[in-house]
Amino acid sequence: MHDAISSFLAQTSFPALALAVTAAMLALNVVWSAIGLVAERAFSRYRVWDVALRPGQIRWEILANLRFDAVVGVFTAALLWYGPGLGLLRIAEPDGGARDGSGLLPAVVTFVVTWVCFEVYYWAMHRAMHTKPLYRFHRWHHDSRVTTAFTGVSTSTVEALGWAVGFALGPVLLSTFTTVHLGAWALYFLYNYSGNIVGHVNADFFPKLMNRRGQSWMVHPITYHALHHARFVNHYSFGSSFMDRLLGTEWDDWQQLHDRVRDGKPMTSLAQNLRQRGA
Ligand SMILES: [Zn+2]
Ligand SMILES: [Zn+2]
Repeated sequence: MHDAISSFLAQTSFPALALAVTAAMLALNVVWSAIGLVAERAFSRYRVWDVALRPGQIRWEILANLRFDAVVGVFTAALLWYGPGLGLLRIAEPDGGARDGSGLLPAVVTFVVTWVCFEVYYWAMHRAMHTKPLYRFHRWHHDSRVTTAFTGVSTSTVEALGWAVGFALGPVLLSTFTTVHLGAWALYFLYNYSGNIVGHVNADFFPKLMNRRGQSWMVHPITYHALHHARFVNHYSFGSSFMDRLLGTEWDDWQQLHDRVRDGKPMTSLAQNLRQRGA
């Protein structure tokens, strides 16, 4: 994948690159939303909410999906195209021998650095968007109270730009001391994007084992983020839960609620709670 992306970059133009990245995102969006719908059916006995969607919800979500793909697609293409010339991005050359930065270790470093940077950055951006002056940029995502296979990238334009910066952060930081493995960056993007879409479906396919504190450090069940949509506060993390745990923004009843969902008893009210912190 690394070599294929590098040779495409060498032969293309900026408009063609922007179009290609956006088209690839749209294709991923269609495929993963479809997988999300299938997962929702396959795991329907583990529904998170037995609460109706808001009128017109799917329509506004799909509209925002298209906008997200265009904003992130063009931003990422611009970074790929102009970043190296501006000194922002150092892309590893393909087949350049042992020091070219395209082997397995550089790939792992690129993936891990991008993962950590995004998790930390997203918590901070998300927490900031829940302050009074910035909430207007995040409201679109929260118009979905009960989430669907189309909620993940249903955001405002400004929030989509914030995500684009988050995807770029790790590679740009990495470029200050080494080269970026394009294939690993693309793989991280695939993990983030697909996980975000499937992580918003209204069915929790994560087994009870995943709600024990150790296991949820890196990946949390769907119920975890579903509670953020219902309650608006706490659970600002993206795919992991370590930032919430370290910074004290984790609800203390989510594991029991996840157990309940996995027992086949969906939550019947968005105000569902067991032992909310401070309550
Ligand atoms: Zn969400
Ligand atoms: Zn939020």
